[in-house]
Amino acid sequence: MPGCRRRAGRCDIDHGHPFADGGPTACANLCCLCRRHHRIKTFARGWSFSLLDDGRLVVRTPSGVSRTTRPPGWYPDPEPDPPELEELAPPDPLQL
Ligand SMILES: [Zn+2]
Repeated sequence: MPGCRRRAGRCDIDHGHPFADGGPTACANLCCLCRRHHRIKTFARGWSFSLLDDGRLVVRTPSGVSRTTRPPGWYPDPEPDPPELEELAPPDPLQL
């Protein structure tokens, strides 16, 4: 949960896609929520929790504020390599 400081070892393990709806009990579908936030996810109205394929958890509050957490060690996709120098060089005027 964004902003929650409860250690994962003291949290509930929760299915991102509910087990009752066919969500697998697998790392890609599990996240750690403290009991308080687990209850908010399960029972409070207007909250949205989305566990993305890359492990990020997107939480939206009833007021529409959205926050994203990333699993430890997660890094966004690296930027693409810069273009080769030949691609940046101006055209040769003698060959035009
Ligand atoms: Zn929490």
